[in-house]
Amino acid sequence: MEDRINRDFIRDIVKEDLASGKHESITTRFPPEPNGYLHIGHAASICLNFGIAEENDSATCNLRFDDTNPSKENTEFVEAIKEDIKWLGFNWDEREYFASDYFEKLYGFAVTLIEKEKAYVDSQNQEEIRENRGTLTHPGNDSPYRSRSVQENIALLKEMRAGKHEPGSHVLRAKIDMSSPNLNMRDPVMYRILDTPHHRTGNTWPIYPMYDFAHGLSDSIEEVTHSLCTMEYEDHRPLYDWFINELKVFKSRQIEFGKIFLSHTILSKRNLTKLVENNLVTGWNDPRMPTISGMRRLGYSAHSIREFCQRVSITRRWNTAEIELLEHCLREDLNKKAHRALAVLKPLKLVIENYPENQVEYLEASNNPQDDSSGIRKIPFSRELYIEQDDFMETPPKRFFRLTPGREVRLRYGYFITCKEVIKDPVTNDIMEIRCTYDPDTRGGNAPDGRKVKSTIHWVSANHAIDAEVRLYERLCLDPEPDISDGKNLESVLNPNSLKVINSAKLEPSLKESTSGNPIQFERLGYFCLDSEDSKDKDNLVFNRTVSLRDSWAKTQSSN
Ligand code: ATP
Ligand code: MG
Repeated sequence: MEDRINRDFIRDIVKEDLASGKHESITTRFPPEPNGYLHIGHAASICLNFGIAEENDSATCNLRFDDTNPSKENTEFVEAIKEDIKWLGFNWDEREYFASDYFEKLYGFAVTLIEKEKAYVDSQNQEEIRENRGTLTHPGNDSPYRSRSVQENIALLKEMRAGKHEPGSHVLRAKIDMSSPNLNMRDPVMYRILDTPHHRTGNTWPIYPMYDFAHGLSDSIEEVTHSLCTMEYEDHRPLYDWFINELKVFKSRQIEFGKIFLSHTILSKRNLTKLVENNLVTGWNDPRMPTISGMRRLGYSAHSIREFCQRVSITRRWNTAEIELLEHCLREDLNKKAHRALAVLKPLKLVIENYPENQVEYLEASNNPQDDSSGIRKIPFSRELYIEQDDFMETPPKRFFRLTPGREVRLRYGYFITCKEVIKDPVTNDIMEIRCTYDPDTRGGNAPDGRKVKSTIHWVSANHAIDAEVRLYERLCLDPEPDISDGKNLESVLNPNSLKVINSAKLEPSLKESTSGNPIQFERLGYFCLDSEDSKDKDNLVFNRTVSLRDSWAKTQSSN
């Protein structure tokens, strides 16, 4: 799996550029805006950018925060982004950069462009600028301030920088072409006045560079050879190149690829921010969120996310990957890594009448049959057990093979038992307890006379079990492609049953030692992990269901 070679059109370009000698070394960058947490789409971009660096000896990948919009950015987001990239297993060493570190250089570039008569201060208000920009079918109009002299422009820009002007009173624009068919080329704004403090530069700068101006030139400053971004920036490429060419600086090359989406969820920080701000989830790391931190908390392994990103192809078209593929990668990994344990989510008391009271024996179980080095553990067994309510039916339908009155089944790692009696609440008629007998000769799960049973059920010893809260998570959205077009109510696409809480699950005692970050398979139920936020003390354990055992992806693949 690890040594599978990745191929896509971007990696092909990189390979060609190395082979032809166009570049001796390659530099990519991952450029998050610190205005939210990273999601699975970002993971794809991280795996692409850092992946190219890992795959080529002469390549490196920078982490650069594109922090040019102080009103939405903060340090919490910077730290969360770094934690997520590290957790995914990528490394940027000392190459951690911020566009805000380049503010002085970018300002210098702006002055150069004014001196070349390629930029001017425009004093139209926002509305006038919009009106004069024209439309796709109509060219724009030149600003009345377009012919300001170099001296006047420099003087005004200096005043703007010195904080002498109100937000909205002036902007700095590139002087390109107001009738260009590409609206991005109609004298785009390079700087705006903002009286918002920045999380890194504080109040030093009353003006802030716009994304298009700052981004490409930051790439150039870092001598990024291949600047990989998503398709929406295709129309911005002429502008990206224009700044670089006019300033005669290092030529970075922008290459666009299609965004990666995931079915049954919503991406884009704008929508995820709304979920958080409107308390539709508990936070950025809510286990239902498609954020890397949410997925980590749900129990995803970094390996499974990287494997998924490797299998999702990078093309020039947007690509909605099926969540079943992601879950398949997860199951494949957890099956190898997760220790097994017995847990009962909806307990039903079962008493073995012929088992001595006060006797306890310890049954041996493999921690992980997929991994010989995982060792064994001992599970206490006694007269009173809990089994799953769903594993018993008083009047079963035809194909129900689990416990029913008079039937013999196997207890996992244990004995054969036969149901003798059902005890019910005299008032409600609810089943209270099952009375059984066991066959002492079937220890280990086989009968000496060779008789067979049709099912094996899981259990925990009532006196030894520990209590826990278990959170059963379902997909964030029921619809595979939720429609969140503008104006749609975000809440209406959310699965109302995305979380079911079970307050009194009974777990085998070894789970008391669980730590978050270690996957566990509750046999027959799914993969789980200790919740990293809400399991702060050992008497208050909370487990999240990471994913169920059933793999619909593998099924569809094998039937194809
Ligand atoms: P969003 O639309 O979710 O807010 P963004 O593009 O605004 O994402 P940035 O922080 O600017 O978020 O993105 C950092 C990098 O991640 C960019 O290079 C961007 O192109 C890439 N990226 C963002 N979303 C996706 C996605 N869905 N698939 C692939 N790459 C993505
Ligand atoms: Mg962005």
